[in-house]
Amino acid sequence: MATKEDFYKLLNIDRNASDAEIKKSYRSLAMKFHPDRNADNPQAAEVKFKQIKEAYEVLSDPKKRSAYDQFGHAGIDQSMGGRPGGFSGGEGFSDIFGDVFGDIFGGGGNGRQRSNVQRGSDLRYNLELSLEEAVAGTETKIRIPVLVGCGECKGSGAKKGSSPVICTTCHGHGQVRMQQGFFSVQQACPTCRGTGKQIKDPCNECHGQGRVQENKTLSAKIPAGVDTGDRIRLAGEGEAGERGGPSGDLYIEIQVKDHAIFTRDGANLYCELPISFATACLGDAIQVPTLDGEVKLTIPPETQTGKSFRLRGKGVKQVRGGAIGDLLCKVRVETPVQLTKDQKALIEKLRESLSSGGKQHSPQEHTWIDGVKNFFDKLTG
Ligand SMILES: [Zn+2]
Ligand SMILES: [Zn+2]
Repeated sequence: MATKEDFYKLLNIDRNASDAEIKKSYRSLAMKFHPDRNADNPQAAEVKFKQIKEAYEVLSDPKKRSAYDQFGHAGIDQSMGGRPGGFSGGEGFSDIFGDVFGDIFGGGGNGRQRSNVQRGSDLRYNLELSLEEAVAGTETKIRIPVLVGCGECKGSGAKKGSSPVICTTCHGHGQVRMQQGFFSVQQACPTCRGTGKQIKDPCNECHGQGRVQENKTLSAKIPAGVDTGDRIRLAGEGEAGERGGPSGDLYIEIQVKDHAIFTRDGANLYCELPISFATACLGDAIQVPTLDGEVKLTIPPETQTGKSFRLRGKGVKQVRGGAIGDLLCKVRVETPVQLTKDQKALIEKLRESLSSGGKQHSPQEHTWIDGVKNFFDKLTG
C-alpha cells in the first residue's frame, strides 16, 4: 500500500480539481495509455492504465474522494472492504477498457454493451407435433408476440429529433456504489437501470422503451427425429434488446402428441398387437402398421400373450444421429366375446379335449399353480 502512487499525481491534477477536470484528465490519459497506441510495450501501458482507472474511480466519487483526502489509500482500502483499488478477482482488462471507451465514445458499440445495453429476453414457444411430423421432420409457421425495436425512434426510446441524455444519478456510468458499513456494493443505477442514459422526452410509439409489441410469423424447419423436450434455437428471433440492444433467441420446445398406436422411447417405437385366440394357437401372417406403411409379420403357432416381435429398422432415426431404431410389437391375445351357442359348445368341446389328452397345454398355468402350492406348503410347513 505504501508504494501506491498518489491518485492526484497519477491523474496529473491539483488536489482541488473539479469533477470536470478529473474526468477530462482521465480521458486523455486513458487514450494515451491505450495498449493499441503502445504497441512497443502494451504490458506497461496496461499497468499504467489500471492505476489511472483506479485513481479515477476514487476521485470521481465524492464519498471516496473525501475518504482518500482524509486518510489516503488506507481510507479507500478500508471502505472498499478489502478489495484494494477495485482490481481483484476476475476483472479482466477488456472489462476495464470497455468501461472507459463507452465513456469516451458515448455509449455505442464499443465496450459498454456488457453493462449498458440490455440484450432482449429469450423466448420459448411450445410446438405440438404429431409423432409422424416429429419423426419425419416438418416445416411449420409459428406466430409469436414479440417485442421488436421501435421503428419510430430506432430503438433509442427518445422522441424523434431528441436523444437520450447522460443519467444524472450515475453520470453515465450505469452503476452506483452503495455504502453498507465497511463494504461498498456496486449496483446498477436505479434511475437509468444501468444504461447510463435518461430519456427526457420519450418516444410516442414505445413510451421510451425503445421496443414495441408485434406479432411475428416465423417459418421454422423442424429436423427429422425430434422428440418431446427437444429445443430448437432460432438465434436473434427473441425479444429485441432494450434501447437498441441485441435481440434474444427464440427456443422452440417440442411436445409430441400421444399417438393412437405407437409410443416412442428414444429410437424405438412400441405398439400393442391384438391377435385372435385362433391366430395365437395356429399362427398366421398378419399386417402390422408402421410409420411408413403396413408390413407383414408372421405370428408363429402357440404364441403367448405378452410376446414381443421386433421389426428391425422400423423405428425412428433420432435427431442427434445414431442407428435407426426398431418397432417392437407386443402381442395381446384377445378372448373372443359375444359367443353364440354353437361357439360356446365348440369351446366346451375344446376344453374337454385339452384336459383329457394327457398333455400339458397350459405352461403358465401349471407353473403358477405349482408356485401357489409351494407358497402354501411353506406357510404350513
Ligand atoms: Zn420508440
Ligand atoms: Zn444512471
